[in-house]
Amino acid sequence: MMTGEEYKASLFDGRATFFEGKRVDDIPAHPFLGPPAQRVADDYDWLKTQEIDGHSPINGVPTSPEELRAKVDLVHAAGMMAHVTYTSIMTLATVQGKISDIAPQYVERIDGYIKDAQKSDIRITQCITDAKGDRSRPPSRQDDPDAYVHVVDRSPEGVVIRGAKLHITAASLGHDLMTIPTKSMKAGEEDYAIAAMVPVNAPGVKIINTTYAPRHEDTRDFPVSGITNTPEGFVIFDDVFVPNERVLLDGEVSSAALFAHSLGLWERLGGLTSMADGADVLVGLAQLIAEANGLAGQAHIKEKISEMIIHATVVRACYEAAIAHSSTGVFGAAFPNELYTNAGKYTGAAAYNLMVRHLHDIAGGAVVTAPSVSDLENPEVGHLARKYMSTMNGVDGEYRTKLFHGIRDLTADSYGGWSTVTNIQAGGGLYAQRIVTRKHYDLEGAKHAALVRIGLAESDHGAGC
Ligand SMILES: Cc1cc2nc3c(=O)[nH]c(=O)nc-3n(C[C@H](O)[C@H](O)[C@H](O)COP(=O)(O)OP(=O)(O)OC[C@H]3O[C@@H](n4cnc5c(N)ncnc54)[C@H](O)[C@@H]3O)c2cc1C
Repeated sequence: MMTGEEYKASLFDGRATFFEGKRVDDIPAHPFLGPPAQRVADDYDWLKTQEIDGHSPINGVPTSPEELRAKVDLVHAAGMMAHVTYTSIMTLATVQGKISDIAPQYVERIDGYIKDAQKSDIRITQCITDAKGDRSRPPSRQDDPDAYVHVVDRSPEGVVIRGAKLHITAASLGHDLMTIPTKSMKAGEEDYAIAAMVPVNAPGVKIINTTYAPRHEDTRDFPVSGITNTPEGFVIFDDVFVPNERVLLDGEVSSAALFAHSLGLWERLGGLTSMADGADVLVGLAQLIAEANGLAGQAHIKEKISEMIIHATVVRACYEAAIAHSSTGVFGAAFPNELYTNAGKYTGAAAYNLMVRHLHDIAGGAVVTAPSVSDLENPEVGHLARKYMSTMNGVDGEYRTKLFHGIRDLTADSYGGWSTVTNIQAGGGLYAQRIVTRKHYDLEGAKHAALVRIGLAESDHGAGC
């Protein structure tokens, strides 16, 4: 297994990564990329303390609902890079089980790749979302043929790819880019049916980073995003050569969607886990600030918090149902239930704005105007700021100020804005979850139940009650 120090050393591999217009040659020392890299290093060291027979505990396939829950909890605790790596490996393993009939030549390659990746304990990020050009047109009918990643040259040794994958979480902090088609492809779009494991330092890969990390000198006013933040990468493939052993699909249009579909389930389960935990935090903040404001007993405040509790509970219930109703799929693995995973992710995303609206409504304007920690420390105004931020005996002004900082950071500042968009878009927009939910819901069963209920069909179980 890799240590944190070895991980940080591995980032000096010549990768071309950029931040606010400048190339970054020393990621660990960079003011915005360094702290998240250190976090990944710490996660490596933590995972080493959990090793199983010398292997990372994020390896291995859960085969029962209990093992699935334990694995999800472990991966969640092991940080973003462990999460994206685990879901990438599970995606490849899922594809491997499904592709053997259509394109058996890739089965051995995928198997070899998974074994190597697990042995070298690398981190893999997920490059799915293309630039996409005009959304109403398929890849082959775009004005710019590079709107979707595609093969521009082939040789006996491998392929050359061109295009860009956008919004890629932590792209600059991993070792390999799992580059897969974002959608199904049709005959004539063979060059776009390309899946490849591209090293981040491959010549021609260029990554532009963005981050919600606070720009302030004093990050104490950002109790969440000042401690943990993850950059996103705008990944450009500027004619990148990929050797054959790293090409996992090339031209088989009928299998193009298999990768994204296989990933979607794992990605949304991860999203659902975070949403269930995040919803509880929003409920907790609403109750804490209501108490600190002296309003916890007011009817309209209690009503809003009750509504928040119901949303949080429904999201958690979907997570529990997704695990409890997991099914055994290819290679004996336990797969979370598609219907509950997608319905839960949709509900969590769609209800997020309402949760935040209630929280802001309950909390008051100090969400965005509370003094900073350094103001509280100022000898001239600090004691006055604390006095007026206090609401009653037993509610310390500094404590209440810090509650507001937490609410602002999570929901109303740079990270809050990022979260609002990310809840909706990451793992596919709301529309994507509607499609998958509809696909897995027993619509025929519902129609039959309706006909039975209104006396137009016989019940399967004899006379109804
Ligand atoms: C913070 C963050 C992290 C992310 N991390 C990753 C990552 O690690 N890897 C990765 O690959 N992606 C990642 N994504 C990308 C995410 O999956 C996409 O943002 C999402 O799939 C939507 O794609 P888009 O942003 O291009 O928006 P668009 O596709 O432009 O969607 C905007 C709207 O248009 C609709 N729409 C689009 N096309 C059509 C059409 N043909 N017909 C009808 N309606 C249409 C959509 O349903 C949506 O409502 C991340 C996104 C965010 C915000």
